[in-house]
Amino acid sequence: KLEEQATHDHLTGLLNRRGGEDAIHREVARAKRHTAPISFLLADVDRFKDVNDRFGHAAGDRVLAAVAKCIRDQLRAYDHAVRWGGEEILVVLPETASFEAALVAERIRKAVERLEIEGAPQVTISIGLAELGARGIAATLGDADEALYSAKQQGRNCTRRLGDERATMVPSAVA
Ligand code: GH3
Ligand code: MG
Ligand code: MG
Repeated sequence: KLEEQATHDHLTGLLNRRGGEDAIHREVARAKRHTAPISFLLADVDRFKDVNDRFGHAAGDRVLAAVAKCIRDQLRAYDHAVRWGGEEILVVLPETASFEAALVAERIRKAVERLEIEGAPQVTISIGLAELGARGIAATLGDADEALYSAKQQGRNCTRRLGDERATMVPSAVA
């Protein structure tokens, strides 16, 4: 129980930052051992300050819990979802290259768009995607953060990967 409390976030039930960092280091070590790909999605709720301002902090909390559950429901058992910052969720996708991760990201984004939450407005998320390259964990998470920034710049409610800023991430045929 103490272990669970130390590694999980109370509001969302996701891994907290500390639990997430442990999971990332474990998974990256495993990926390197097996020369398997691993991708990261950094998701941030769009205009979340407005939700708090217009509907109250309690409604904001319900939105966060609902978005977290929605994301979790879209993942495989061996993926990880981490409450990375206030309303930022980091998803760790072992054995997933960036093309496949883009499909997961779009699936998550669309599921969140469809969420109905009592006493709260419809919300959307923006997602930055990065696959671990030769550059290590910190640089890869930096890339995901930069890609998220691009997604925000380009109107929100979309997924971006560095280098793809102008392109639609997923061909509409498969999206
Ligand atoms: P953007 O689309 O650019 O992301 O706009 P935003 O309004 O979401 O901007 P930003 O990410 O800076 O806002 C984060 C807000 O999330 C500010 C903070 O008050 C709120 N927040 C962070 N943690 C919690 C929480 O646990 N509960 C609630 N209700 N709000 C939180
Ligand atoms: Mg936000
Ligand atoms: Mg934020």
